[in-house]
Amino acid sequence: MNREPIHIVGGGLAGSECAYQLASRGLPVVLHEMRPTRPTPAHKTGDLAELVCSNSLRSDDPEHAAGLLKREMEAFGSLIIGAAREASVPAGGALAVDRERFAALVTGRLAELPGVEIRREEVTEIPPVPGLEVGRDLDTVIATGPLTSDALAASLGAILGSEWLYFYDSIAPIVDAESLDDSKLFAQSRYGKGEGDDYLNAPMDREQYLAFHQALLEAEVLPLHDFEDARFFEGCLPIEELARRGVDTLRYGPMKPVGLTAPDGTRPYAVVQLRQENLAKSHYNLVGFQSRMKWPEQRRVFAMIPGFENAELVRLGQIHRNTFVSSPTHLDKLYRIRSAPRVRLAGQLTGVEGYLESAATGLAIALYLTLERTFEESGREIEPFPATTGLGALARHLTDSEAKHFQPANINYGLFEPLPRRIKKRERRAAYAERSRHDLLAWAADHGLEASPAPFGASAPARAAERTGTAASATQRGG
Ligand SMILES: Cc1cc2nc3c(=O)[nH]c(=O)nc-3n(C[C@H](O)[C@H](O)[C@H](O)COP(=O)(O)OP(=O)(O)OC[C@H]3O[C@@H](n4cnc5c(N)ncnc54)[C@H](O)[C@@H]3O)c2cc1C
Repeated sequence: MNREPIHIVGGGLAGSECAYQLASRGLPVVLHEMRPTRPTPAHKTGDLAELVCSNSLRSDDPEHAAGLLKREMEAFGSLIIGAAREASVPAGGALAVDRERFAALVTGRLAELPGVEIRREEVTEIPPVPGLEVGRDLDTVIATGPLTSDALAASLGAILGSEWLYFYDSIAPIVDAESLDDSKLFAQSRYGKGEGDDYLNAPMDREQYLAFHQALLEAEVLPLHDFEDARFFEGCLPIEELARRGVDTLRYGPMKPVGLTAPDGTRPYAVVQLRQENLAKSHYNLVGFQSRMKWPEQRRVFAMIPGFENAELVRLGQIHRNTFVSSPTHLDKLYRIRSAPRVRLAGQLTGVEGYLESAATGLAIALYLTLERTFEESGREIEPFPATTGLGALARHLTDSEAKHFQPANINYGLFEPLPRRIKKRERRAAYAERSRHDLLAWAADHGLEASPAPFGASAPARAAERTGTAASATQRGG
């Protein structure tokens, strides 16, 4: 097998997972990461896999599309999901992490893994080794994320030869727990999920909510630069942008009170939820409160939240460029650039959205690269993951969407191959999960890759039956 090193540019969520998967399958890797020598506008440390905003990798429910994707990745021994489980903090049904511990675990594992060379340098050109021809002489994975440095973005633009797309993400603020007035908050998860009290909630009555909403409407926001176009990703809208959509939009969005009961037994009119940021419970994230208000305005407006009168915001909301390519135009089903097939794109740069999804693309690319080298002599073709799995559904979104309307997507069942209509609504999530488990393991066996069924635990039908009390044959849940 060809054992030339594979060059991965960018040691974020996608690059770290990709490097780990390749090296643990015996393929040497050179991982180029520009931090800490050269920072990005959002990262704070030199650690690999640093989470720049929320500390959540979304739902861990095995029948939720995000929970299912995690299990698919765990079946192949995912570094990112493994580290996330080790560094997890209570977050209801979500998998949230102590971000410093998480990044330290990933960095440590890669540093000690034989076959991984980490170079702390900015790569300004593709290929990352001078003198070689683009896409011919070197297997390269570009995983430089939404904040790809300008020089590399220009080099990528030159290869792709057509327009880039930009949009903007906003970072949610973090508050110091000690600065909050506890007497005005209550601990509870929505519908009592997780431990039942994983979140802190700041309840508002109608009057408080209307005043807060008005303040959001009036707050000054940062102006956009000339080249910027205010196209926000619908799943990550700034709080003030949501407020502009209508007086009740927030009450049906991040400030919804459903599933929560205040200590006096009533349901609040609206709620600000705070999610634990670290194991020490010293910092909390304002859930869904991404913002591009000017910083003094954020301090003024957020001080109106009950309990926040003297709040110390240790990080304020921010706005950042997000760079991604038109994948339907440029990528094939194995994440290769059509015009330069030995260059692959991974992570957010491809137009997947989210930490989890970015890591998932890194894992898929590593498996495809391993297979490509394994099958080199026989010339056997690689089948991509089927779109009945989360790993396959994500890739299909990238390649089969209409280029003109292409938008980044989180994993969701809408991207999967549809189920037969006869399956009843309440059984559909279990059916998606079971079909994915079956097809993923079959795909792996067919390609000669090891995949553990353990992370899927009890089969989905068995779990569904267990819930409705119709069977008692569920096997133990693994992973
Ligand atoms: C401001 C912001 C907030 C976000 N918030 C969330 C969130 O709350 N939840 C969520 O799920 N997703 C969020 N995302 C989206 C996305 O999930 C993350 O950006 C995720 O980290 C993407 O993973 P990645 O591996 O593609 O890129 P990254 O994790 O950003 O990794 C890319 C790496 O490449 C390095 N790099 C860049 N250019 C070069 C170069 N030329 N040479 C060498 N190294 C280079 C960077 O330093 C970085 O370490 C956010 C994105 C942004 C920009």
